[in-house]
Amino acid sequence: MKISLLYNTVLLFGPPGSGKGTWGKILGMMPGFYHLSTGEMFRRMDIESELGQRVMAYMRQGDLVPDQIVFNLWTQHMQNAALIGTFKPQKDILVLDGFPRTQSQAETLKTVAHIKAIVLLHCADPEILVARLHRRAVQENRTDDASEPIIRRRLVVFEREMNRTLAVFPNDLIDSVEVSQPPVRILAALGAILARRLAPEES
Ligand code: AMP
Repeated sequence: MKISLLYNTVLLFGPPGSGKGTWGKILGMMPGFYHLSTGEMFRRMDIESELGQRVMAYMRQGDLVPDQIVFNLWTQHMQNAALIGTFKPQKDILVLDGFPRTQSQAETLKTVAHIKAIVLLHCADPEILVARLHRRAVQENRTDDASEPIIRRRLVVFEREMNRTLAVFPNDLIDSVEVSQPPVRILAALGAILARRLAPEES
């Protein structure tokens, strides 16, 4: 299918446990914003289906789901959301969390999205992330964070792919927010970044 319109998009980028999902949900509650987490999309799949089982097997190991599967499911999701009207491609800002995660995903995304801002949720101390992921595994029963080796593997995979993925975009689109600071400060920083990046262009 030919996509003639580029989605106006904000990328939330950061390691597991950095709060992408939380901040993505919060931003997605604002009128005119639509949030999609690919991790959440995968967790909602029918695990009885063959594809659901394949996806879950990657997630359980802390590995990335192959690019082609990710992009197919992402495209289907976006088209369905536009069809049922929860996402209005002409008007809404799409907030993506957890996508893209590889160079190839970033290159493909660029063909369908106009990236307005990239927010890198940075954590000065990785042990804070490990502790958060442990807590979340218990609270939310997340199998992909079930054990310390898998948590550490997820962090290694993120570090491995981050630079190559970000390199696909202009460096001056990227703003960094430190996530070990109190939530109100993170919220203020995010608000300031988006107010600046999403301001209407002057003619
Ligand atoms: P998240 O909820 O974003 O931490 O994602 C949980 C898991 O889903 C990851 O560890 C990957 O196994 C898988 N996943 C989510 N997004 C992607 C993506 N864009 N590419 C590949 N795998 C992904």
